[in-house]
Amino acid sequence: MIPRYAPTYTYADLVAAVEIARREDAGERLRARLAELHGMRHVFLVESARVGLYAALRAWGRPGRVVLPAYDCIVVPEAIRFAGHDPRFVDVDEGSLSMTPAAVREALAPDVSAVFATHALGIPCDVEGIRDAVRGRDVLLVEDAAAALGARVRGRIVGSFGDAAVISFQATKVIAGETGGALLTDRDDLAERIREVLRPARPPRAGARELATSLARKLATSPLVYPATHLAYRAIGSEAMFEVVEPHSEMPPGYLAGCSRLSSALVLRQIDRLPANLERRRSIARRYEAAVAGVPGLAPLSIPEVFEPSWIQFPVRARDKAGFYRHMQREGVDVTWTYRYSCADSYGVQGCPVSRAAAATVLGLPSYPTLSDEQVRHVADAARRYRAGIAAHGAGAPRAKAG
Ligand SMILES: *Cc1c(COP(=O)(O)O)cnc(C)c1O
Repeated sequence: MIPRYAPTYTYADLVAAVEIARREDAGERLRARLAELHGMRHVFLVESARVGLYAALRAWGRPGRVVLPAYDCIVVPEAIRFAGHDPRFVDVDEGSLSMTPAAVREALAPDVSAVFATHALGIPCDVEGIRDAVRGRDVLLVEDAAAALGARVRGRIVGSFGDAAVISFQATKVIAGETGGALLTDRDDLAERIREVLRPARPPRAGARELATSLARKLATSPLVYPATHLAYRAIGSEAMFEVVEPHSEMPPGYLAGCSRLSSALVLRQIDRLPANLERRRSIARRYEAAVAGVPGLAPLSIPEVFEPSWIQFPVRARDKAGFYRHMQREGVDVTWTYRYSCADSYGVQGCPVSRAAAATVLGLPSYPTLSDEQVRHVADAARRYRAGIAAHGAGAPRAKAG
């Protein structure tokens, strides 16, 4: 079974990162690299990207509504609420699954305090257009580049357009650390207040526990162990293809824990390889695009060429999401079914039909850079063999709970 996601670090990276973390706190060097890459002078390392969003809002300090897409990670509106703001969901564009400048403009009521220009699934939104839409207003523009490290808009790196930006180093993102994320800004006033908000954060840890989790994540996706990992996934979570997810209303403990030393070292180890990482993902995406294009019942997204995604996964629209999922399972390919919800539903907001339809139809093919050529070929061929409506009844099919 080919895993849906695998960490981008190698065992050699882990060993080297342990060495680095023993000697020094690599956070300082990592911050300098990220600052240079994005042309943002202030970089804060945080426990996760969601905490970066939380800290940006707390630092902005003007509670109000935050505009964000309904097709998004549930932890984002949660962070908005934790920070004392309220989400204002906007529907996404059918082709690219991004929030458009026109939709943002329409949502800009006087109580809107911030806009999250979200590069969901690593697909850049039209952040320049969104920036124009908020120009001249007292609105904080934050780029949610959690999944989009290195993605570009008209050649310019995302995370460099807004008042602030966040990046995630979670296991499924462009560069995986143990966990962690970064909050970037080029504004001195904002940086000053972010520092205050993050003051309770504990100093970075470099414990055995961080090493154990990174090692476990790596092992969990190795060919021998993955079948067990996959069974565990299925046992713990339902294989629902669409659901209404309940948001958490309480800030979890450890939210402000900070980025671990091991994570900083792991990300620093991999940052020189970012161009190769992205090039590999793009070449995989091109293969999948060609494979999916001719298959009835499947379609790639339509993303304008000026937006270069980071391809944390390759989204495919499947008329029969559960059917395509089961087909790929039988072919030995695990695919991602996120986001399998619309945040608008979670917060009891009417509307946002495109987000809802996207949640019910989009699956992600694996596109992490450690996939071998043979695995990529296997995934592409498996997708090509899909026959909508027939595949679901093949003999010897394993039982799968349909959504
Ligand atoms: C993954 C993701 C997040 C959350 O990142 P964490 O580091 O897990 O908090 C937020 N927004 C988007 C668009 C994401 O893809």
